Amino acid sequence: MQLLDGKFASEKIKQEIAAEAAAFLAESGRKPHLIAILVGNDGGSETYVASKMKNCEKVGFQSSLIRYDVTVTEAELLQKIEEINQDAGVDGLIVQLPLPKHIDPEKVTETIDYRKDVDGFHPVNLGRMMRNLPCFIPATPYGILLMLQAYQIDTTGKHCVVVGRSNIVGSPMSILMARNANPGNCTVTLTHSKTANLKELALQADIIVAAIGKKNFVTADMVKPGAIIIDVGINRETSTETKSGYKLYGDVDFDNVAPKASWITPVPGGVGLMTIVGLLKNTLASAKKEIYP
Ligand code: NDP
Repeated sequence: MQLLDGKFASEKIKQEIAAEAAAFLAESGRKPHLIAILVGNDGGSETYVASKMKNCEKVGFQSSLIRYDVTVTEAELLQKIEEINQDAGVDGLIVQLPLPKHIDPEKVTETIDYRKDVDGFHPVNLGRMMRNLPCFIPATPYGILLMLQAYQIDTTGKHCVVVGRSNIVGSPMSILMARNANPGNCTVTLTHSKTANLKELALQADIIVAAIGKKNFVTADMVKPGAIIIDVGINRETSTETKSGYKLYGDVDFDNVAPKASWITPVPGGVGLMTIVGLLKNTLASAKKEIYP
């Protein structure tokens, strides 16, 4: 078993991003700029946004956090997004999910200018991805592709079983792995909670992408010897063992699956770190007008 080490891969790519950001600053006189909007104070969201902001600073981007109380109205939020859309000094805008129930996430996603949608959730970007056109790829699937690239894993001809069909992870991942590209060129099976014979399908997989949101969901008896395991899950549980007061678990039973796998991502230290790299790469591409000139 070999580890797909998110720390190693992300640090290497962040160095490249930092060099490009410095060149962009020298040429344009400004830094790539990412704005994040955070509504409320959900523990997980606070941590993710703080990490995104910190990483922006590390690679020489400008980052701004706009916070709203959980009582903010949908209209107020949409108005702010419209305002940022018009600001030529902003390259990327993300709104951290989940949002409170009175705010429609679809409206929020569609209000963000697709040219600043560095999370890659806007229908224009998803549609362009589907057609293999330049677009902002959703940050987590993009991070997974970058991880596979970093370890020069050839996915051509492999059977990839994606578990989970969310709009932000499972569904886009299934499209990307089936694309005529490498990473890609896979035969893909997209599974979900209504899938009848998940274990049988998983056992046929050369690559499993687990994006379910359930601790230790993928067990050793579901994995073919030599499979590549990508664990997207981040499940937080309170713990007295850690300083932070919680511990993170993936969707894969790492201890028992790892000995069977050829490659496996750890949690933490795997896909989560690569998601941030995906976001940074999209923000840089936006600043450089590489996707939408
Ligand atoms: P969602 O809750 O949106 O989707 C979960 C998916 O899992 C759904 O499609 C659901 O099926 C499926 N599912 C649930 N139970 C089962 C089951 N018993 N058998 C098969 N499929 C099942 O989650 P996300 O995609 O947003 O996130 C998944 C996990 O990844 C979470 O732990 C999340 O925290 C983590 N995550 C990590 C990121 C990172 O950077 N590492 C980024 C984003 C998410 P159905 O559609 O039928 O309900």
